[in-house]
Amino acid sequence: MTGVPYQEWRSRAERLDPHTGHHIDGAFTDGGGTLPVVSPRDGRVLAEVGDADAATVDRAVAAARRAFDEGPWPRMSPADRGAALLRWADLVERDRDTLALLVSLEMGKPVAEAHGIELRAVVGCLRWYAEAADKQADEAPRTGPDALALVTREPVGVVAAVVPWNFPLTMAAWKLAPALAAGCTAVLKPAEESPLSALRLAALAAEAGLPPGVLNVVNGRGGVAGRALGEHPGVDVLAFTGSTEVGRHFLRYAADSNLKRVWLELGGKSPNIVLPDAPDLDAAADTAAWGIFFNAGEMCTAPSRLLVHRSVAGRVLERVVARAEGMRVGDPLDPATEMGPLVSARHRDRVLAYVDAGHADGARLRAGGSAPEGCYLRPTVFDRVTPAMRIARDEIFGPVLAVLEFDDLDEAVRLANDTDYGLAAAVWTADLSAAHRVSRALRAGTVWVNCYEEGDMSVPFGGMKRSGHGRDKSLHALDKYTDLKTTWIRL
Ligand code: NAD
Repeated sequence: MTGVPYQEWRSRAERLDPHTGHHIDGAFTDGGGTLPVVSPRDGRVLAEVGDADAATVDRAVAAARRAFDEGPWPRMSPADRGAALLRWADLVERDRDTLALLVSLEMGKPVAEAHGIELRAVVGCLRWYAEAADKQADEAPRTGPDALALVTREPVGVVAAVVPWNFPLTMAAWKLAPALAAGCTAVLKPAEESPLSALRLAALAAEAGLPPGVLNVVNGRGGVAGRALGEHPGVDVLAFTGSTEVGRHFLRYAADSNLKRVWLELGGKSPNIVLPDAPDLDAAADTAAWGIFFNAGEMCTAPSRLLVHRSVAGRVLERVVARAEGMRVGDPLDPATEMGPLVSARHRDRVLAYVDAGHADGARLRAGGSAPEGCYLRPTVFDRVTPAMRIARDEIFGPVLAVLEFDDLDEAVRLANDTDYGLAAAVWTADLSAAHRVSRALRAGTVWVNCYEEGDMSVPFGGMKRSGHGRDKSLHALDKYTDLKTTWIRL
């Protein structure tokens, strides 16, 4: 809980005075046209922000390039970089209320979750990499008496981070914190839906003393500003989180430009397998419901396919449906709200089209399926889903659960892996051997046993198959932003 009452959040929303434009070379600036930022809470236009053209993106990349090639950041001691990142983390914590409000208003998640989950994750991530900055050593392999070889890690250069709106600051922090800790400089392009929180983050970085050009934010449309970053010869690494479709574009942009490295965190259609010997079936059902409705289902890791053993399906489903029907859907600024609106009217229509597809393909609607008003949608559950149905195959990115039943473990694993995606999965069982066997057999970057969405900064996160490649979080993320250099010295 935030401790801030509903009325106070509403009055702060009325007084909102966000930064606009872009943040380049340490200062706010205009460039290109403007784009409205519409709140899905009530359709209000929160602000007009920059809509970068290629020339504005050039300016941002040039600033990052200068800061990398000539500036102090890559040259200062890792401990000093860490200290600057810690100051940044402290300022984000200081302004946690404001940042949570911006996130909640621009993309619709409950302000209590923006504050308690998203901002907590952002502060934790910045601190984790700040502290890691000087905790690693280079290598001196045993090359024999006549030579000394040094294998050193060097920052890779200018990193462009293109991120989505669903966890706008967390996704940005997962990329920026390791990249900056490694000594790279960065250009962040937030999603069109969530530029305001990103601009605030950049202002705090400047206040923390990160030198001009180390972190730049350009706003704008994916097909223009995102593409210009993807094709830019001055960008060394493109770190992307978003849809599989746009991930493909980035591989093409890189192939057609400077062969920059591209790291992709993409979509998912994660299976959540409930075996009849789950230690607590009620907990499994509650977690299944919480997992798919959390953040209005706008989660890459959402457990959108519930695979449940036929012998316990009735009991589990009954509880999932009760949870769905009991969810408090409403104003994201109300601290009692459990699910806010979807991010936009366009996205709501896309999700509703999947509800229609569920009906048309023969699934049975057990809960929800309707949009009461605006961008709000009731938590939705379909059972009698079969693997070929669209709601079983496509990433819906909304609060829509597809329930499939199975008769034995082999069938469960087959169903679970019957997807183009490979981001996450879960299995509920009290049998240790079954837990290990199933988690080995699942093609997913993360497998949870008897839980969902758990973890911390020390473990890597990312996908297999069409969910992408490369890992965020943990020390492994630093590999994406560093190059290995060998220096061979004849003695
Ligand atoms: P999106 O792919 O539409 O957009 C993501 C970003 O790419 C935005 O900044 C957008 O402006 C930009 N973009 C869009 N079209 C572009 C183009 N042609 N060229 C360059 N850039 C372009 O995704 P979204 O709707 O913002 O987010 C939802 C998607 O993100 C889902 O598929 C979800 O699974 C995925 N996601 C993945 C993870 C993960 O870690 N694997 C985390 C969160 C979200």
